[in-house]
Amino acid sequence: MSDMRLIVAGAGGRMGRALIRTISETPGAVLAGALEAPGSELLGQDAGVLAGLPENGVKLSADLWTLSKDADGILDFTVPAATIANVAIAAQRGLVHVIGTTGLSSSDNAVIKSVTGQAIVVQSGNMSLGVNLLAALVKRVAQSLDDGFDIEVLEMHHKAKIDAPSGTAFMLGQAAAEGRKIPLEQHSARGRDGLTGARNTGDIGFASLRGGTVAGDHTVIFAGPYERIELSHKAEDRMIFAHGALKAAMWAHGKKPGLYSMADVLGLGD
Ligand code: NAP
Repeated sequence: MSDMRLIVAGAGGRMGRALIRTISETPGAVLAGALEAPGSELLGQDAGVLAGLPENGVKLSADLWTLSKDADGILDFTVPAATIANVAIAAQRGLVHVIGTTGLSSSDNAVIKSVTGQAIVVQSGNMSLGVNLLAALVKRVAQSLDDGFDIEVLEMHHKAKIDAPSGTAFMLGQAAAEGRKIPLEQHSARGRDGLTGARNTGDIGFASLRGGTVAGDHTVIFAGPYERIELSHKAEDRMIFAHGALKAAMWAHGKKPGLYSMADVLGLGD
């Protein structure tokens, strides 16, 4: 198969720059375009230079329709409104759309689902091998323990993160809910503050910390009577997400349309 031609959306962002570096060192992948928000002061700049590499001739553009003419895939770590705008174009062009953006609403997710009859989408709140393995372990532990064990998901991220709880925290909460065979939406406890009353049995709690440059720490706590099990993952560098996203894109290239997860990519499904 010829090289996979990839567009990086949010090319000037933290993840965007990490993705450009990762593509440059991945055999079989080439950077076909770099997308930024309309009006961004970075438009027209060289994507390689922005990512700390030698000039590569790919200039940042806000026009996905034109950029995607000769592309095979788009790596999208942006903001929900941008991702939803990209979904329609990626589907029309038949691109593999790897969606790492978090903070999507349920109606955003419904839009993504609606195109997967003709589009190839890989979506995950966390693209790292370690966290996806952690989610599989959380599901397994939640299956084994009854609701005498309270489940709490704790996360910490850098101070610039704009959404909370993290997409990964939801993913881990979802894994715990699946293990328990309960719907997360009806059993999630978020943002406790003040006189909250006692904890509801069976709830899955979420707590978020923000500060410094933390790339992403997650712990799932199973707190039972007189004992606790804690499963943790600590991301030391956001390159792990970029490597996962590249792996997802190359895995999905040539697959039939559908909505895939990192568990599919990594072969961690049931
Ligand atoms: P960031 O540094 O703020 O980058 C986001 C980039 O998207 C910015 O450069 C922003 O440009 C750009 N953007 C905004 N609107 C756009 C549009 N319409 N078209 C193209 N680009 C647009 O954030 P980040 O840390 O890289 O994270 C980005 C997203 O990925 C967040 O949702 C984060 O939670 C998620 N994330 C996911 C994973 C995972 O494994 N799934 C891992 C890490 C991060 P402006 O600054 O000009 O607005």
